[in-house]
Amino acid sequence: MVSSASDGLAQVIYLDNQATTRTDPRVVDAMLPFFSERFGNPHSVDHAYGNDAETAVEAARADVAALIGAEAREIVFTSGATEANNLAIKGAAHFHKAERPHVVTLATEHKCVLESVARLEREGHEVTVLGVDRDGLVDLVALEQAVTERTAVVSIMAANNEIGVVQPLAEIGALCRARGAYFHSDAAQALGKIPLDVNAMQIDLLSISGHKLYGPKGIGALYVRRRPRVRLEPMIDGGGQERGLRSGTLAPALCVGLGMACRLAGREMAEEAKRVAALRDRLVERLREAAVPLTINGAMDHRLDGNLNVAFDGVPAHALIEALPELALSTGSACTSASVEPSYVLRALGIEDATAAQSLRISIGRFNTAEEIDEAGRLLVSAVTRLRQAQSAAAQ
Ligand SMILES: *Cc1c(COP(=O)(O)O)cnc(C)c1O
Repeated sequence: MVSSASDGLAQVIYLDNQATTRTDPRVVDAMLPFFSERFGNPHSVDHAYGNDAETAVEAARADVAALIGAEAREIVFTSGATEANNLAIKGAAHFHKAERPHVVTLATEHKCVLESVARLEREGHEVTVLGVDRDGLVDLVALEQAVTERTAVVSIMAANNEIGVVQPLAEIGALCRARGAYFHSDAAQALGKIPLDVNAMQIDLLSISGHKLYGPKGIGALYVRRRPRVRLEPMIDGGGQERGLRSGTLAPALCVGLGMACRLAGREMAEEAKRVAALRDRLVERLREAAVPLTINGAMDHRLDGNLNVAFDGVPAHALIEALPELALSTGSACTSASVEPSYVLRALGIEDATAAQSLRISIGRFNTAEEIDEAGRLLVSAVTRLRQAQSAAAQ
């Protein structure tokens, strides 16, 4: 095992960018003054300190909005995508319970969406959880049948955290708008990786996480459409900050960090996507060259550039991860990697439990290099070969 001393970390190749990303040094630089001389409360606007913090927070809000084609006043800062998802789904369902008691979501959503919906069901809301096809995509015909004039909100993620599959957002948006249901999308994985436009895609609510796009942990945002107006019941009562939707003093350092992360993503996303896709393809090529038997889970052509979800035939994923302390790899979502249950996301794709148990998520990001990818390819091939030989020897 890797020691807990941080100097050991530099030796480990980080390939878990869908669990979290390294905070970009430019983001850290932008944040630092707000931990020292620029310490004002952004809600105390009677003096220069407060005004300074407020100005910085509002500039950050504008940067977040710009990345999704929204207006600054449509952005509500939260502690992360978990909170944003809870606020969007429960907030919309609670506000509209009388006339629209129904909620629709997808079986492959993040746990914080599924658990929010499960709570609504216990409270008496009607819930539809749609399945996906073998590629991980929503069935638009089934969705059209599920969404009615009684549906308050449809929550379908932009890109999946385990298999990277990107959903047809504009089609879903059009369908929801036609029924008067809000379209909420968890964009924690997609933002900064693919272009998102809340107007072109007719998205009414969109969740953002800072630490998935090279920003800090502990901050996120919810986009809340103003025209036509989206109405939510707040979860936190207090001083009425964030248009009454999320009371509490904002953390200017974190807001500024998220703003800078969004600004960088807007500037660099197109080029970064190409570079990351080339690294992903390079890794697939290294594995294929070595002819290790493998299966790729989920659609390759509707997928985030940095994601690879792959099963190595005959090699349990946990054994492979254990054999490779030089690599930071994951079986899937951070919340479930400690459990031995097969991934519910892979299960929803109809992938057999045996294959799911062999499935790894490799996620490549901004700070990975070609040298790291080649080294990771070599290490994976040799560990897979070794483990396969050990298995066949044991079977004889
Ligand atoms: C990481 C993630 C979340 C949770 O985001 P936090 O900001 O960590 O709360 C929600 N949904 C998806 C798809 C994610 O990848």
